[in-house]
Amino acid sequence: MRNLTINGDRLWDSLMEMAKIGATEKGGCARLALTELDRDGRQLFIRWCEEAGCTVSVDRVGNIFARRPGRNNDLPPVATGSHLDTQPTGGKFDGVFGVLAGLEVLRSLNDHGIETEAPIEVSVWTNEEGSRFAPAMMGSGVVSGRLDLQTVLDTTDIDGVRFEDALKAIGFDGELPAKPRAYSAFIETHIEQGPYLENEDKMIGIVTKGQGQRWYNAVITGQESHAGTTPMHLRKDALATTARLIGEVRDIARGNQPHACGTVGFIENYPNSRNTIPGSVTIGIDLRHPEDASLSKMDAELRAVITRLEAEEGVTIELDNYWYYAPVHFDQNCVDAVRRGAEAHDYPAMEIFAGAGHDACYVNDYAPAAMIFTPCLNGISHNEIESTRPEECEAGCNVLFHAMVQLADQAGQH
Ligand SMILES: [Zn+2]
Repeated sequence: MRNLTINGDRLWDSLMEMAKIGATEKGGCARLALTELDRDGRQLFIRWCEEAGCTVSVDRVGNIFARRPGRNNDLPPVATGSHLDTQPTGGKFDGVFGVLAGLEVLRSLNDHGIETEAPIEVSVWTNEEGSRFAPAMMGSGVVSGRLDLQTVLDTTDIDGVRFEDALKAIGFDGELPAKPRAYSAFIETHIEQGPYLENEDKMIGIVTKGQGQRWYNAVITGQESHAGTTPMHLRKDALATTARLIGEVRDIARGNQPHACGTVGFIENYPNSRNTIPGSVTIGIDLRHPEDASLSKMDAELRAVITRLEAEEGVTIELDNYWYYAPVHFDQNCVDAVRRGAEAHDYPAMEIFAGAGHDACYVNDYAPAAMIFTPCLNGISHNEIESTRPEECEAGCNVLFHAMVQLADQAGQH
């Protein structure tokens, strides 16, 4: 492919224009899902896409799909997209960059007079942030079948407003069924939200994997008794055992570097009285690793630790692994398309994994997908000071442009 480029200034101007909708005093953005501000952002995006010659459709959960025809419209489109909703104290780039990079691809195709073989599509996924309505990644989750449509429609926010009612109120209760879409390929561009690219002085992250997660509840049961009359050697102290377990969780993560994470962020202590030895403690344990083999090893280590602590402390520990999210392996062909896009522009690039969840992780369930990461200042996101430079946005979008045109032509060869 000729080494064509997108228009970086136009991309940046669009980002700044979108950021005015819900702009906060500290320079961030508060555009919560299915609010009037979300509606305004969606309408601006749709206007821009229609001006670029796209047809726009909306599905039952409010996901938006803007389509630019190709030479052969029987081919499944090559798609990109992300989300326009933000955290309450969010930044200008998380999600928005991925959507507007897609828009800039559409505009650049027009500028260069390129007719792609397969159609091109840009999507906006509803409520990726999970801030007003939980869980996160609702729009892409329903489409992938991981979340149930009716359950999502019935979900309420903190004021008791139903998701479906909020969707109707902003006029985005669409007709299309929320079903897996036929895509030739899907590439999502996103700011990294972490420090790796910046530390390694790279412009482009070629995202090969999404991190796997195991979430547990552990109930540690000892025996309540008097803090003054129970000799130390006769105690079954649930909280003291928990303290050891928390340290072990951290050691398990430290022992599986690079990349392992282990966190205990939730604790309930019973009866939580200062002169009674605690009889029961519940904690939440969060283990993460991009490799399934390592995540399984961490799981086995956790179970061994628990058996040992039960014997040493005379307590029982019940472990419930109630959520397992398998590591996402992005499609090799899509990953290679991203790599070639970075090479074509001589951008310093490295392979990386996604530490957070993204819409592309759910798309990868039913279509070949990959992601492009770009650096963000000090790795900070979900914060009003979230920042990235115009040339970094331009680079990510150039790689996306190159990858999508390649994949759209490739789709015609099968
Ligand atoms: Zn995001």
